[in-house]
Amino acid sequence: MKHLAKTFVVSAALFASTLLPVHAELDVGGLKAAIEASVEADYPRLEALYKDLHAHPELAFEEVKTAAKLAAEMRSLGFEVTEKVGKTGLVAIFGNGDGPVIMVRTELDALPMEEKTGLAYASRDKTIWNGVETFVAHSCGHDIHMTSWVGTAKTLVGLKDRWQGTLMFIAQPAEETVSGARAMLADGLFTRFRKPDYGFALHDGPIPYGYVLYRVGVGSSNSDSLSIKFRGRGGHGATPQATIDPVMIAARFIVDVQSVISREKDPTEFGVVSIGAIHAGTAENIIPDDALVLGTIRTFKPGVRAKMLAGIERTANAATAMSDAPAPEIRITEGAKAIMNDPAVVATAEKVLKAAFGDKLRISPPGTPSEDFSEFGNAGVPSMMFNIGVYEPERWAAANNGGLPLPANHSPLFAPVPKPTIETGIKAMTLAVLSAFDQHARGK
Ligand SMILES: [Zn+2]
Ligand SMILES: [Zn+2]
Repeated sequence: MKHLAKTFVVSAALFASTLLPVHAELDVGGLKAAIEASVEADYPRLEALYKDLHAHPELAFEEVKTAAKLAAEMRSLGFEVTEKVGKTGLVAIFGNGDGPVIMVRTELDALPMEEKTGLAYASRDKTIWNGVETFVAHSCGHDIHMTSWVGTAKTLVGLKDRWQGTLMFIAQPAEETVSGARAMLADGLFTRFRKPDYGFALHDGPIPYGYVLYRVGVGSSNSDSLSIKFRGRGGHGATPQATIDPVMIAARFIVDVQSVISREKDPTEFGVVSIGAIHAGTAENIIPDDALVLGTIRTFKPGVRAKMLAGIERTANAATAMSDAPAPEIRITEGAKAIMNDPAVVATAEKVLKAAFGDKLRISPPGTPSEDFSEFGNAGVPSMMFNIGVYEPERWAAANNGGLPLPANHSPLFAPVPKPTIETGIKAMTLAVLSAFDQHARGK
């Protein structure tokens, strides 16, 4: 029986190897040409979509019209679209035979700020945000991501004889408030739909267009927000002896907390505390009752994060103790976790991207901003996020040769050059997805 079984296995293997085509290496040159032709043909439509998204941005969890536009695009490509996943998110599925499920994520949201690019398609839209009227702008470039996402879907559908499996394209709300990924997961993203085998996302940034930046391991920072209410005892500015001055305590904390970074943290490890807002008092001659300090804490490693949180708390309590004030109210709210790019997914994509982009594919240092794309990786999806550039290479070179720095994401002047940026986004994302399908088909 044992012998027979072995014979059968051997002959079945022979049979398979004779009749099934040997899986060839991905023809990156041919694919690149096919992708470029597809993008060129679609570009007028994609640019119209980009300019429309750019001119009419929406804030976190309010991306109703934006989501509806993307849902219509994906349905027209034959995707099955489910709306309102995680409030305003979308899940678009395209099945193409047996194979892995590959997730591609875009964000939907914009920022509460005024765009000052002067572009013909600049946003002048306003909305009410936290009770206050504000301009809205796509100053983080999520409109580039959305357009690349639609273009990638179109390109992959056009190349469907080159891959087998399922595309799971998700449009995530509220990345800027690092809450949209969690909202989609809590709404059953990986239970109502299949859990993906691989996940990809891209982000644009102030580097030359045509370039793709990536890294293995840490890709973004842990982000925590800090809120401390220092409590004092208000009174007349001319009689400080009868008061406990919370402004003084807050000032002491703001200066001393930087010593947690410079004296307690290992200097070779990344860690930042930035105080972004101070709210206290009403008039020059009144010592207020309390002072509110708001800030952000960024780290890469959990151990560094723990050390910094402990140091911040100790410093706040010490500043308070010096003035014999009541204990401060310290609130640290956990935000996004650092992105960990999966080494195997990156290694597979890297080979294909290198063949397509040559020396325009570069390894980047870890980014210090935060990103909730990390939520999907932490939920068990091996993932990769990479960056693409948005500016003319000559302009970038001039800026790096002593010129003015180019406006980065979140600047009111952030203005990607649409065509080469979107083309690079589609080309890189399509090839990354194809690399994962191909690797899976080879059985790794
Ligand atoms: Zn942003
Ligand atoms: Zn962003």
